[in-house]
Amino acid sequence: MNIALIAHDKKKDDLIEFVDLHKDVFGYHTLFATGTTGTRVMEKTGLNVHRFQSGPLGGDQEIGARIARGEMDFVFFFRDPLTAQPHEPDVTALVRLCDVYSVPLATNLGTARVLIDGIIEEQSE
Ligand code: PGA
Repeated sequence: MNIALIAHDKKKDDLIEFVDLHKDVFGYHTLFATGTTGTRVMEKTGLNVHRFQSGPLGGDQEIGARIARGEMDFVFFFRDPLTAQPHEPDVTALVRLCDVYSVPLATNLGTARVLIDGIIEEQSE
């Protein structure tokens, strides 16, 4: 499965801790990420991550394009709801494409926990 990882700056620690905690699961799949998120995930976990541009420089759109081509199976996108983002239109577009193509999307830690359980279940089928 192809999994996309994205986190806004104030949510990066949460996502990185989450991926590290479930390293055995994530390591089983092909990981993609926006630039800075990908670098930090690799540094912390040692997992291999295909990195796109940083989010504000087009990384969200690159991941969106993969979704539109049917190439992304799950998206973990930890958004910061309390900070204005310069690339807010790209953020909205990415969430929209997940809905257009029914790609499971976790935007916070609570949903991420549920989603990872679903991924583990699919793995064992
Ligand atoms: P980053 O991008 O991983 O390059 O920081 C994430 C974002 O802000 O959309």
